Amino acid sequence: MNYQAVIGLEVHVALNTESKIFCGCSTAFGAPPNTQVCPVCLGLPGVLPVLNEKVVDKAVKVALALGCRIAPFNRFNRKNYYYPDQPKNYQITQYDLPLASGGWIEIPSAREPGRIDIRRVHMEEDAGKLIHVTGRDAADPGHSLVDFNRAGVPLVEIVSEPALISPAEARDFLQELRTILLYLDVSDCRMQAGSLRCDANVSVRPRGESGLGVKTEIKNLNSFKAVQRALDFEIKRQTESIEARTCVEPETRLWDERRGRTLLMRGKEEIHDYRYFPEPDLPPLNIDCDRVAYIRSRLPELPPVRRSRYCDVLGLSSYEASVIIASADLAEFFESCCRCFPNPKMAASWVTGEFKARLNERGLAPGRSPVTPENLCGLLTLVAGGVISGTLAKEVLQEMFETGRDAEHIVRRRGLVRIADRKELEGIIQNVIEEQPEVALRVRSGKLEALDFLVGQVMKKTRGQADGNLVNGILKEKLLSES
Ligand code: ADP
Ligand code: MG
Ligand code: ZN
Repeated sequence: MNYQAVIGLEVHVALNTESKIFCGCSTAFGAPPNTQVCPVCLGLPGVLPVLNEKVVDKAVKVALALGCRIAPFNRFNRKNYYYPDQPKNYQITQYDLPLASGGWIEIPSAREPGRIDIRRVHMEEDAGKLIHVTGRDAADPGHSLVDFNRAGVPLVEIVSEPALISPAEARDFLQELRTILLYLDVSDCRMQAGSLRCDANVSVRPRGESGLGVKTEIKNLNSFKAVQRALDFEIKRQTESIEARTCVEPETRLWDERRGRTLLMRGKEEIHDYRYFPEPDLPPLNIDCDRVAYIRSRLPELPPVRRSRYCDVLGLSSYEASVIIASADLAEFFESCCRCFPNPKMAASWVTGEFKARLNERGLAPGRSPVTPENLCGLLTLVAGGVISGTLAKEVLQEMFETGRDAEHIVRRRGLVRIADRKELEGIIQNVIEEQPEVALRVRSGKLEALDFLVGQVMKKTRGQADGNLVNGILKEKLLSES
């Protein structure tokens, strides 16, 4: 291969604020169409947008987590375009003075040093959603419906530098970004539901060249797999076009999942002139540095720091660390386990092994597990203390998932605890001897085979919990040394 790909991603994240960015309408997903709308987000005349401060806080949180510089002074702009999903015929976004710039994401799998630079982070509003209904016949040629519930949902856009060099790296970048966003609790990041959307820009250049080639932008990528496949396809298409000495055109292309190819959406001559200008209905935005410092002080421990703590301090394997860290939920669960159980390595091995397997079987997220961290630690304590074996513990865990009961309860009820308390056993054994005088007599007269029967009686009374060796010993002492 004499050509090298260069990729830059533009990622849109729907923030999980309760209300929209410029009005009080709910952002809840899945409501009946056009039930979460008002004159502001419907673009009716005579109303003014008011910025939701929670949006700024969450966007600042994202920017800080990515190591960006927050601009103390920024503003909103109008991006003008005509499309039926946008009732105002313009989108309020940020343009020349965005919220933040600089920053990077460290991706564990990437080349040294593994840092992919972030160009900017800005806030904007989402558009509505078009629903295309296909026609049945000539009399019904099909039509489109529009749902404005999503219009005005707050988005934060994260733009990378053209610094990724392969589809796999682009996927890992997106994965790492998603993990960070989930840690920050700013979005549910569901690609299928559209709360995390990605446009991929890609160009190809002769290997070793430092200038950038002509890029195309791919839209409509709604899964990690789609990002990777679309880039693979596009890199191949561009390479072939260069090798055939035809130019790559600067285009916006659509990913067609079904056909596994990108299709031309619009060419350069159609590239919109958005006529950006400062939004006159909103005042410029001053970001208070105390507020930024406060948000910074409350950032959670983020994946890269957590990864090295797990491996270097807690002694987890890099596999265990990556499994736990990949899910903010599972990491939260593990963190709770570490608070109530003193052996993190043992906890990690159960969390990433049996516990996760039981969750997967049931299709449950760790946050919805019927087994709480305290419950799991209860089980681990029994294993660590030698009360039950690891094999039995797996059975007990299974039952914990089924019943939601704690380990100790299950172990007691099922008679899995060894009774090794001498006093307790002596009492039970005394009863057995009194109940079985003939058998006891036979043992006393030296018929040791009869001893097994008495041991069996003790086991029956203790539902198998008694420590067999101890019972044997006590019986011998009582029956043989007395005589
Ligand atoms: P546009 O003006 O077309 O939106 P930008 O320069 O703003 O382009 O960049 C948008 C995205 O495209 C960024 O993520 C950037 O990294 C990426 N990008 C820019 N130029 C190239 C290129 N030649 N090849 C690949 N990606 C590019
Ligand atoms: Mg663009
Ligand atoms: Zn509204």
